[in-house]
Amino acid sequence: MDKARKLFIAGNWKMNKTVAEGLDLAKDLKRDLALVRDVDVAVCPPFTGLYQIGQFLDGSNIKLGAQDMYWDKFGAFTGEVNAAMLKDVFCACVILGHSERRQFFHDTNETVNKKTKAALAARLKPIVCVGETLQERESGRTELVVKDHVTGSLAGLKAEELVEITIAYEPVWAIGTGKTATTRQAQEVHAFIRKLLADMSDSSTAARIRIQYGGSVKPANAKELLGQPDVDGALVGGASLVARDFVDIINNARS
Ligand code: PEP
Repeated sequence: MDKARKLFIAGNWKMNKTVAEGLDLAKDLKRDLALVRDVDVAVCPPFTGLYQIGQFLDGSNIKLGAQDMYWDKFGAFTGEVNAAMLKDVFCACVILGHSERRQFFHDTNETVNKKTKAALAARLKPIVCVGETLQERESGRTELVVKDHVTGSLAGLKAEELVEITIAYEPVWAIGTGKTATTRQAQEVHAFIRKLLADMSDSSTAARIRIQYGGSVKPANAKELLGQPDVDGALVGGASLVARDFVDIINNARS
């Protein structure tokens, strides 16, 4: 692999898998990916599975991530968990601002920004999701929306904080739909995001930040998508629920 940035492929299990089912999947992945050192790999089970799956994967080459968190340190926030609680159950990273959270649970750039800062303060690596809807793309607003998400969600972060973040570009119209952005569409937006990051910091900082693509990534399209110069990995939903598919995505991306 000749990219300067190491690929980072994460599986977003969303609201799927009991603890036992998650452990079964984690067992297959730990076995089949044991020799992978040239790609960073993470799985993000639902909160209920984090402790046991994290314990099982601890010390392996597969990192654990959560799918969301709250920014405050403790207190009367029924239903929420904070960054320290995620660290306590083996998490190394956390997905923030996923389009499903923006769409169904009222996450905004402002709340994603607070969560990102709280995650960084706890040394939890954020995967910050950005991306346009079909309507926004068709009305020519892709760059405007992506700029709003990137600058809003990452507002006020210093260069040394930005390099700890992964951005996931996930066109909403490609998530769970079977429609994938073309390699050209993906590369165009990734290059645009990298330019935004350079404007927010400097070009050498921007060159160190990993930008994942997400949206119906499958074994069959992983190699081409992840071969693009500014595509540094993938956030995988549906295909990360099947060990064979997730392993094939990783191996195809490496080849
Ligand atoms: C996601 O949920 O982040 C995602 C990309 O889902 P899928 O791969 O199923 O499109």
